[in-house]
Amino acid sequence: AKGAGKNQWRRYQAHLHNEMVERLELRSALDHAVNEGHFLLHYQPIVDLPSGTAVGFEALVRWHHPKRGVITPDQFIEVAEESGLILPMGRWVLEEALRTVAEWRRILPPGQAPYMSVNVSVRQFRESGFVDQVRTALAHTGVPPEALMLEITETLLVKDDERIWTDLGVLREMGIRIAIDDFGTGYSSLGYLRSRPIDVIKIDKTFIDDMVLGQQPMALVSGIVSLAQSLGLTVVAEGIEDATHREVLVRLGCPLGQGFLFSSPLGPTEVLAWMRSPQS
Ligand code: C2E
Ligand code: CA
Ligand code: CA
Ligand code: CA
Repeated sequence: AKGAGKNQWRRYQAHLHNEMVERLELRSALDHAVNEGHFLLHYQPIVDLPSGTAVGFEALVRWHHPKRGVITPDQFIEVAEESGLILPMGRWVLEEALRTVAEWRRILPPGQAPYMSVNVSVRQFRESGFVDQVRTALAHTGVPPEALMLEITETLLVKDDERIWTDLGVLREMGIRIAIDDFGTGYSSLGYLRSRPIDVIKIDKTFIDDMVLGQQPMALVSGIVSLAQSLGLTVVAEGIEDATHREVLVRLGCPLGQGFLFSSPLGPTEVLAWMRSPQS
């Protein structure tokens, strides 16, 4: 029995060792990707739920690995944040997303000009000069601040860093909109919505999935929508995969949504084709 325990321990150690090696390899590959610019952005439409027309797009980063193909962020964002590589990567994401939306706004008729929503990690806010970085990127691309939305994950705000809120306040004063991402997964209290510089809440997909399963989850989503309305905030429902989700959300008065029902994230040229094709 003692020998078995020892073997188990060795296997455990070997496992830890492999994990560490994998993380280090990932980190150095990511470092290389940042230097070589091996990233691209896909864009998912944010639609007006009753009509299905796009009002904006969310930029979602992908890593174009020379051997392994396109890698989604769930496989590298964490390491990017830990290592600090999220800083140069995030800077590129912001600039590229703004260059792209500037282009779309030149091509599309003004009534159809979409806004761009960009995910920002808390680490980027902690970097001094983030506000200036945004200001400069807007100036370089000529995108009006009203056409930019920044998404920040609720769980990351829980740490309640006053400086982040101060910066968000400054950005919002400039006319940029601030969205709370994955809403409902972080704070246990909703009080902060009243006092903080926020324009939009994005209801996490898990609530949308549960919503069609029963009365209680539906009441929860309905409650979030009316709370948001009473505070003058806009709501985006995430992860809408079928027509039932959409119908229920429209009935509850949720104005905006995103999900595979409308479109998966698209490459920049696919977006223009999607915008031109009739939508339901
Ligand atoms: P998120 O911001 O919550 O983005 C939504 C994720 O759900 C995206 O995954 C999107 O492709 C996926 N999705 C959209 N509609 C549906 C649907 O109907 N069903 C399902 N099952 N999934 C749907 P993705 O692109 O893999 O991104 C994962 C996460 O990585 C994002 O979650 C965000 O937190 C992070 N991320 C992506 N791009 C960036 C970035 O440029 N910077 C930072 N800091 N984080 C990013
Ligand atoms: Ca997001
Ligand atoms: Ca989200
Ligand atoms: Ca998420």
